[in-house]
Amino acid sequence: MGTRQRNTLSQANIEQIKGVLNQVLDEKSPPVPRCRLLSTGFEPYHGLYVEEALDGTKTCLGCGLCIDSCAILRREPERRERTGQRTSLALESLVGDDCERCFSCALSCPQVDTVIKDYIVDDKVEEEIPQLQSLKENDNYYMAISALVFGVFLGMFFMT
Ligand code: SF4
Ligand code: SF4
Repeated sequence: MGTRQRNTLSQANIEQIKGVLNQVLDEKSPPVPRCRLLSTGFEPYHGLYVEEALDGTKTCLGCGLCIDSCAILRREPERRERTGQRTSLALESLVGDDCERCFSCALSCPQVDTVIKDYIVDDKVEEEIPQLQSLKENDNYYMAISALVFGVFLGMFFMT
């Protein structure tokens, strides 16, 4: 399945990093810190207010979005309460190799390039969540039925 085309001028070249990105995503460990490091850094179109210029840096902003989005920490709030830190380092120490590879942390991080997020959604999420595959198959099925019905109506229209 192909990765969607985007303006990739200032973003990581997905073809160049695909090998190492796959290794990162296949590991049972929070992927967000390494996805961040494979990215080009904070984009000029970001919506967060920051006092210093962060363009081009790959550092963790400590925004905590990855922590908030982690399914394990949402399910186990007591685990979340072990620290008040809201960095990717905290996420790594709280989750470790219990990571379920849902990729929410990487998808929620403002420091991860959109091309990497697109690659995760297009090529990885579906592998990990098989229900999405059957949804897509159903989608194709309903599309085929709709096209058939539309074709019949069109045929009837031209015959009258
Ligand atoms: S959000 Fe998902 S991928 Fe990230 S650490 Fe939590 S379980 Fe792992
Ligand atoms: S979501 Fe925020 S806290 Fe988590 S790794 Fe990205 S910048 Fe750091």
